[in-house]
Amino acid sequence: MLSGKYKILYERLISLIDNSRIYHDPLYTLAFGADASFYRLIPKMVIIAKNENEVSLILRESHDLSIPVTFRAAGTSLSGQAITDSVLLIAGSHWKKFSISENGSRISLQPGLKGGYVNSLLAKFGRKIGPDPASIDAAMIGGIAANNASGMCCGTAENSYKTVAGMKIILSDGTILDTRDDNSRKEFKKSHEQLISEIVTLANTSSGNSALSSRIQKKYKIKNTTGYSLNALIEFTDPFDIIEHLIIGSEGTLGFISEIDYRTVLEHPFKASSLIIFPNIESACKAVVLLKSTPVSAVELIDRAGLHSVENEKGIPEFLKSLHEDACALLVETVAPETDVLNRNIDIIISSINDFDTEIQVQFTKIREEYEQLWKIRKGLFPSVGAMRKTGTTVIIEDVAFPIDSLAAATIDLRVLLKKYGYNEAVIFGHALEGNLHFVFTQDFNSREEVDRYGHLMSEVSELVVNKYDGSLKAEHGTGRNMAPFVEMEWGKEAYNLMKDIKRIFDPSNILNPGVIMNSDPAVHLKNLKPIPAASEIIDKCTECGFCEPSCVSAGLTLTPRQRIVVQREITSLKNSGHEPHIAASLTKSFTYPGDETCATDGLCAIACPVKIDTGKLIKKLRSEKIAGNQWLANWIADHMSLVTLVARRALSTVSFLHSVLGTPYMSTITEWVRKLSGNRIPLWNQYMPRGAKIIKQPSHSSSGNSRKVVYFPSCINRSMGIAKNQAPDKQLASAMTDLLHKAGYEVIYPENLNSLCCGMAFMSKGYTSAGEKKSEELEAALLLASGNGVIPILCDMSPCLYTMRENMKSKIKLYEPVEFITDYLLPYLEIAPVDEIITVFPVCSMKKMDLNENLANLARLCAKEVIVTESNCCGFAGDRGFTFPELNKYGLKDLKPQLNLSVKNGYSTSRTCEIGLSLHSGINYKSIVYLVDRTSQQKYI
Ligand SMILES: Cc1cc2nc3c(=O)[nH]c(=O)nc-3n(C[C@H](O)[C@H](O)[C@H](O)COP(=O)(O)OP(=O)(O)OC[C@H]3O[C@@H](n4cnc5c(N)ncnc54)[C@H](O)[C@@H]3O)c2cc1C
Ligand code: SF4
Ligand code: SF4
Repeated sequence: MLSGKYKILYERLISLIDNSRIYHDPLYTLAFGADASFYRLIPKMVIIAKNENEVSLILRESHDLSIPVTFRAAGTSLSGQAITDSVLLIAGSHWKKFSISENGSRISLQPGLKGGYVNSLLAKFGRKIGPDPASIDAAMIGGIAANNASGMCCGTAENSYKTVAGMKIILSDGTILDTRDDNSRKEFKKSHEQLISEIVTLANTSSGNSALSSRIQKKYKIKNTTGYSLNALIEFTDPFDIIEHLIIGSEGTLGFISEIDYRTVLEHPFKASSLIIFPNIESACKAVVLLKSTPVSAVELIDRAGLHSVENEKGIPEFLKSLHEDACALLVETVAPETDVLNRNIDIIISSINDFDTEIQVQFTKIREEYEQLWKIRKGLFPSVGAMRKTGTTVIIEDVAFPIDSLAAATIDLRVLLKKYGYNEAVIFGHALEGNLHFVFTQDFNSREEVDRYGHLMSEVSELVVNKYDGSLKAEHGTGRNMAPFVEMEWGKEAYNLMKDIKRIFDPSNILNPGVIMNSDPAVHLKNLKPIPAASEIIDKCTECGFCEPSCVSAGLTLTPRQRIVVQREITSLKNSGHEPHIAASLTKSFTYPGDETCATDGLCAIACPVKIDTGKLIKKLRSEKIAGNQWLANWIADHMSLVTLVARRALSTVSFLHSVLGTPYMSTITEWVRKLSGNRIPLWNQYMPRGAKIIKQPSHSSSGNSRKVVYFPSCINRSMGIAKNQAPDKQLASAMTDLLHKAGYEVIYPENLNSLCCGMAFMSKGYTSAGEKKSEELEAALLLASGNGVIPILCDMSPCLYTMRENMKSKIKLYEPVEFITDYLLPYLEIAPVDEIITVFPVCSMKKMDLNENLANLARLCAKEVIVTESNCCGFAGDRGFTFPELNKYGLKDLKPQLNLSVKNGYSTSRTCEIGLSLHSGINYKSIVYLVDRTSQQKYI
């Protein structure tokens, strides 16, 4: 419950901001509070801001009431800079506008765009944004710029500081300044005369002080994100240039970035990489110094512990296992506009390190799959430590930089220090060209001794980095709360005072993310540590990195996978503590709709997750626990599948008959009323709901002696659901499928007792695990029998069912979904005459999980003149959830229609239920891709 000045703030804000976007309840504040760091603060209020007017109002009112505000983009920060116990202002999904100009050389971006997406927009111009954090597919522009994030290639030359070309900023008093607009500058000069004059004075003083300005210059020769970007004071004279460069790396403590222009950089099309193994760290680091002057685009150091941590992963070169214990790797990349230049680069690089001993001969690969495999080694380092850690511990990644000529000695010192404090399993890797090293280790924060151990390590690391090597304590991850106590130590008093002045000038009442970057508490880095209790084996490895959020259909509607995990951890922790059981009970109750009911359990979150967590599995487990004593109906249905599908067919046909009598408008109104009266318990009807399917007549089994045979398992959904009103052709899927199979000369074998069979997915997704497993076992036995123990390939006509079968069946039988089967088995026997039409395809989640999206698109391209592949996560229909929680489906497909042009009349997919939602939310008819192939093919006479 809000009280005091927060209550006043809330009342003032709801005059402009829809209160459904302001959260102050325990569940949402906890869920949104978490970021990727190992700190935890729970905000009092979370506001999803939509536009500049709203941000301006929030800042004006917060300024007036002296309430701290923290901005949030994707929440992937690691140093504790994106959390707060006050107001959390989220600027993500509503901030996605962009414009590209100067043939891709310049781009203007709102802060909620993901970095990876921006690069996909620039790809057609052969360009990308400069900053390249490893988190680029999840991190958003606001956070990338405010952290001055960087990665393997951008170094100090192409980060946000170096490539920013203009900015729109909202200051702590709510004023909007657009540095790209002369009028805005003029206005600002008038309204903020003092701010401008103080900035100019600060810049003049810094530039005039030669000792200070050469210190600043030296500090930025290597990567540095400790404190504010002081280089802005000595590199620019125009106050607006200074302001926009100070905002870069200011971690939301100086102002809100509502738009940023970047000068983009070249993305060369030709690449080559080599994993070079040196006998020890020292020689690897010495090689880095020489490589720096060659045409390398990235040089990543991986120590022996790092190589060990990934050596058992799929596709990793075997020789890694046999390397001796001192070995150290450099992963080198070179890029070029054309192959000749690339070859020249490779020669220069190899000859530069000719005099070095290496463990294997230096060889570059230009083959995409091969060099991507090498980079997988590097990218897998952080997750591999995260995945190996003990339950209840956290994984920490530190981020320091040393002058490159000290890299060898500093790396050795760092290893000694880690050993001294017992962090023997720590992995060291990093962007060696920039002297930037990460060390990753697991940490228990559950006891005072462990917190002290970490505290002592950090004190000694600071001594080492600052006093021995004059390096950076944070090279790219931002100061946050983690390094705030050490900023003065790193920079010295004079420079630190400059930073204090900067903060005072921009934010005199200290409301913008206070405690971040500047903090007077010398132990702030050891406070508010995030608890990571064991909650379930399915999610215990979660590092709360947030990489899964972009792939979740319910993100933005209710909760994301990370937020579901955060809440479940809290519920477990409350239950374990035994204190205040009513809080755990109330959180569990509040979780029901946003956490459970609106999870599609599609598992797309696992694809992006570095430790492969499928949060949907957790939700299925929770559903199963909830209904543990109430399984009889599911078991009864499982035992009477044939009867149930018969009833379903009749019910669908009755509803379809009513539809044809009443017409769509009447039918919609009546069914909406009936649903409302039932308290949303009766599923919502829509006009694309099919009529009942005709029963499949199973021929008595007798082999025709045909050499081409297939076991065809029409899923129970397709055995129940026929075609929708107005759907053409008037042919149900099983008929289209068998027609196509026959056309390609296949004999079709149905498994025995077909009408009782089901893959079990419908049961398992609702938590009826034992009924689901029973159906899966029955189906497996029937398929084994029909296929002669797997000799004959097996085809299922719904890809979600096929995916479930692949996941659950234990025998090694060949299982195919339609696209794979058609491509591999039928196309050789068919002639395709593509239709002169623009069609669209939608790869459903199971296709994405099986990595078959491209196969669907390629098959469609054979059959039609033009194919639009729509971009989306899960459609949100989720089995039958589209009928019971239609808002999830509507939200999941909110971007579908804008991707289709008016000439698209037909859409194709591989899941009957998803197709109902797709039709509803696009207005065009979606059906199985089988219909398209059937329509465009004829038998090939060989
Ligand atoms: C596994 C992993 C790997 C990572 N790898 C890298 C890496 O290689 N390099 C690297 O630099 N970082 C890395 N990071 C850290 C982090 O992902 C990046 O710094 C990223 O740029 C943060 O972006 P975000 O959208 O998550 O921002 P958030 O975490 O939401 O916010 C970052 C900061 O920006 C502020 N902010 C957010 N929006 C705005 C706005 N509109 N205006 C003003 N301030 C704003 C916030 O208050 C906060 O202080 C990694 C993180 C993880 C979990
Ligand atoms: S589930 Fe995976 S991707 Fe999501 S926050 Fe946890 S570790 Fe990161
Ligand atoms: S299973 Fe789907 S809806 Fe559920 S958390 Fe994962 S991505 Fe989100």
